[in-house]
Amino acid sequence: MTTSNHDDDRRDFLKKSVFGTAAAGMVIASTSHATAQTVADAAEPEVTNDVDVLVVGGGTAGHVAAIQAGRAGAKTLIVERNSQLGGTTTTGGVAFPGLFDAWGKQVIAGIGWELVKESVELDGGQLPNFARVPQRHWQNQVYTNQFLYAILAEEKCAQAGVDIAFYEFPQAVTKTDNGWQVDCVGFGTNRRVRCKQIIDCTGGAEVVGMLGLPRLKEEERQPGSFLFMLGKEHQPGRNQIHRLYVHGADSTNSRTATEANLTGRKSILAKVRKEKKRLMHLQPETGFRESYRIEGETLITVNDYTSGRIFDDAISYAFYPVDLHTKTGVRPKPLKPGKVPTIPLRALIPKASRNIIVAGRCVSSDRLANSGLRVQASCMGMGQAAGVAAALAANAGTTPLEVPISEIHTLLREHGQIVPDKA
Ligand SMILES: Cc1cc2nc3c(=O)[nH]c(=O)nc-3n(C[C@H](O)[C@H](O)[C@H](O)COP(=O)(O)OP(=O)(O)OC[C@H]3O[C@@H](n4cnc5c(N)ncnc54)[C@H](O)[C@@H]3O)c2cc1C
Repeated sequence: MTTSNHDDDRRDFLKKSVFGTAAAGMVIASTSHATAQTVADAAEPEVTNDVDVLVVGGGTAGHVAAIQAGRAGAKTLIVERNSQLGGTTTTGGVAFPGLFDAWGKQVIAGIGWELVKESVELDGGQLPNFARVPQRHWQNQVYTNQFLYAILAEEKCAQAGVDIAFYEFPQAVTKTDNGWQVDCVGFGTNRRVRCKQIIDCTGGAEVVGMLGLPRLKEEERQPGSFLFMLGKEHQPGRNQIHRLYVHGADSTNSRTATEANLTGRKSILAKVRKEKKRLMHLQPETGFRESYRIEGETLITVNDYTSGRIFDDAISYAFYPVDLHTKTGVRPKPLKPGKVPTIPLRALIPKASRNIIVAGRCVSSDRLANSGLRVQASCMGMGQAAGVAAALAANAGTTPLEVPISEIHTLLREHGQIVPDKA
């Protein structure tokens, strides 16, 4: 997809776009004091972007998908309704992604791993030894610094030529001859995006819902959790973080998310008063475990998951116990020795759709399979595969489902991902 035309278009785009101007005019302050940063003049309130790939949601799966699409030569834009990349990993504070390994070897690598590894190294932390099979699954989760992770993700987007629009979300999505017109809104900004492919990484498949494509949702969802810390100074890592279940938490819309946040914070305030400790740290919002999943071209069942089925169109491994949280807590059910589930491309494609693919916890799967598939390394693996499939589809003028799986595998391997092996 890297052609001279594309490069010219891109330079042109950068000259015209608000992002280009902003990047050129920005000076980074280098002290811990409040030194002024010079940001470019206020951008035009009406913005238009022509891109190959639009990623909606820059969370755990989304920023990986965007970096991958950018590295594959696709002109890529992320629209993220929050203020930073990383989603549940950063804004939700679940900064212990897993699991990149299974049964003594690494099974998920690529861009997600590159980011996790770099953020741990920059933070002076330690990576787990994947050659060792841990007694408890969470022992090989990787404790990362959520703040560094979010900044590194931005840096990698910039290096891959990916533009980012924070505080915005799609309001209307219309089919065009060769893709989509997506009208987004943010405070003070109206943005019209024309794109060939959409990658929906919103967690709850919100764009898929806007298109009226089928989605699944349980009446009783797993609780969300608010992450916070009482007493000691904040150090990233599992042991310092406390969690409080928010039962009924639902990320479906602003009203349900508001309710979850108010409920969670109220409970934390009560706890502070009761335990008479200092509130040292509080994430800005509830971490949501479950909302909508897509109904895809195929559905991963719990039997597919626990038997380690290797799908013909597998694009990534996944590894985690079946992990359903309920009102009474959670009892993870570990996978049997040697079993490593896989994720098929068709589970990322909304049924009977064209030019849209999803990645992340909304993957087409039954509830129990989803309780294991939703973890971060798996979401990152899906994100990278979706980035590859969308970039190749945009380049070929086709839809992700019609891209030969061998081409997806080849590009994934070239970009450092581990591809499931039938042998
Ligand atoms: C409390 C909790 C504990 C967990 N524990 C673990 C663990 O120990 N290990 C592990 O690996 N996983 C864990 N998980 C699971 C894992 O963190 C999530 O399932 C995963 O991060 C979801 O990734 P995602 O990309 O699908 O969604 P997210 O990371 O949530 O990203 C979705 C992004 O889309 C944005 N967005 C949503 N709607 C829109 C819109 N309309 N327009 C624009 N942007 C939008 C959001 O702001 C967000 O940035 C946990 C989850 C929770 C909630």
